[in-house]
Parts: sequence; structure tokens; C-alpha cells
Amino acid sequence: MTLPPDQVSVRAPAKINLQLRVGAPRSDGFHPLATVYQAVGLYDDLTVREAAEWSVSLAGDEWVDLSAVPDTGENIAIRAGRALAAYHGLERSARIEIRKGIPVAGGMAGGSADAAAALVALDRLWDLRTSDHDLLALAATLGSDVPFALVGGTAVGSGRGELVEPLTDHGEWWWVCRFSQEGLSTPKMYADYDRDVPCPPEPVIEEALLDALAGGDAEDLADALGNDLQAVAFARRPDLAAAADDGLDAGAVAALLSGSGPTVLFLCRNADHARTVAGEMIARGHDRVAAVPAPVAGAHVLPKEPKL
Ligand code: ATP
Repeated sequence: MTLPPDQVSVRAPAKINLQLRVGAPRSDGFHPLATVYQAVGLYDDLTVREAAEWSVSLAGDEWVDLSAVPDTGENIAIRAGRALAAYHGLERSARIEIRKGIPVAGGMAGGSADAAAALVALDRLWDLRTSDHDLLALAATLGSDVPFALVGGTAVGSGRGELVEPLTDHGEWWWVCRFSQEGLSTPKMYADYDRDVPCPPEPVIEEALLDALAGGDAEDLADALGNDLQAVAFARRPDLAAAADDGLDAGAVAALLSGSGPTVLFLCRNADHARTVAGEMIARGHDRVAAVPAPVAGAHVLPKEPKL
């Protein structure tokens, strides 16, 4: 008989949107989306232990601003834990440690990664064996990007983004992420979009993107990238448009706003090229940059460190 573990650590990735197509708001206020998500090698790690009450502690890489992340029951990791416990009719709680490598409010769904990580970690800690179907359904109640953080890889997202369907992706992609200290409000981005594009077409993913992913060629992928929120974000924040130009001048194959921003992404040809572009960006005064591979796995349990 194996004893249940006394702690479980889970790693969950950031996401980017290779295409983000936004329709007109529905009657419930949500915008229908057609998107292709890709999980990138930038992670939050989360560790859970059984405890008498819910609590969360936060740590993070130097560029991650933790001041906007609640350390109360408002934290989405605790909300995920409560939802899982309630689903199984349990009255249990846990202490959750989060180490954030994903920038906060960066358009890379760091909170969603934490929610997905909490679901996977607590499911293992409590030996609940929740089915994938039910875990995805619970994830969707927590946020539009949470199901994708469970699935990872590359996937089509529809509905509000919560309905995910894995995609064939033969690429070994490399991205340079250029983070921004100043945030960009997601509701404002959507409000600007509704004003500037009052009658958007039904959101659909273009076939060329699916072909580019299956083909694995960076130039083809560059031609197929697109984010409907990019124009409004760059209009509100000319510094982001300037950063995009800097990355293209530095030799990136394409520049793309990440989700609703403000992170700007640069597609590169391979790891060496990504390091060169990142170095060039730093030389131009963009001090918060990271070169990351994609696609990577969704939320997954980390092996226990061996006891020495
Ligand atoms: P998206 O791309 O899904 O719009 P984002 O990457 O822009 O998300 P997040 O980092 O997910 O933004 O956080 C958005 C807000 O959620 C934060 O400003 C914070 O107030 C709240 N929040 C709650 N829990 C967390 C968490 N564990 N990590 C980060 N933010 C959290």
C-alpha cells in the first residue's frame, strides 16, 4: 500500500495566442473568441500541503510584480482548491505556495496557470482521481484560459476560450517575450475594440495557421499570426508598438501582442536566433526579456526531490 504524499508540486505554463479573433459581445457580456493557444516555457510552480485552513504564500522571479496578486481567498489558486473540494463534497483545505515565473497581468494567463496547477496538485494530494472531463469542466468555471493551462501544447480555443481542442503542431518554436512594467487593462482593451470595430465578423481561425503549425516553418507561422486586440493596444500604448518595431529591427521573424497585452512576443527561427534577438533587445534598453521554447506541456506534477 502506498501512502498519499504529504505535499505535491505542480508546474504550469504561460500561454500565448497565435491567433486571437474576437467577435461582438454576447448577451452575457463575454466576447466570443476563436483562438489558437500555445503553451510557452515560462512557468509558475505551486506546492500544496494539507492544512487546517486555506492559505497562500507568494514568491517570484525578479521581474514578477507580486503586489497585485492577492494572498487571500481571492487568489485564484484557493478558489480552484475550494471548487475541487466542493465538487467532491469534501471539507478539506490546504496551504498553497506559489512561485511565479509568469508576469502578473501580462496577457500570459499566469493566474489561470495557478488555478490549473492547484487543481492538479490537490487532486493528487487528496488522491481524488477526478476524470479529465470533470477537471476541464471545473477549470472552465474558474476562467476562460484555465482549461488550456491543463491541456498545454497547442490547441484551438472557442466559446470564451474555455473549449479547447488539441492541435497538431510539428514546430520547435522559439519566442522572445518582452515584458512591460506598466499594465494594460483587459476590460479596456475589449471596450476599445468594441468601439473601433463595432461589427466584427464571426471569429474563425484561418486554415493557413493550422497548415503552418503542421509544417513547422517559422516564416509560414509568421504570416499566419494575428491578434485582433493588437491595434487597440498599440494605439493606447505607443511604447508597445515601438518595442515591436525594435524586435523586428533586431531580426525577429514576427512581432505579436500576447493576448490582451502588454507583453510583446517575437517569433524567432531557433534557440540561437532567440538568444541573439533577446540580447539585441536588452542592448536597446528593453531590460525585461526572456527567450522561451514552445509548445510545452500543460500543468504537470513535478517529481519529488530525492532525500539526501
Ligand atoms: P489573461 O491573459 O488571462 O488576461 P493576465 O496574464 O493578463 O491574464 P494574470 O496574471 O492571470 O493576468 O492576473 C490577472 C489578475 O488576477 C491579477 O491582477 C490579480 O489581481 C488576479 N489574481 C488572482 N490570483 C492570481 C494569481 N494566483 N496569480 C496572478 N494573478 C492573480
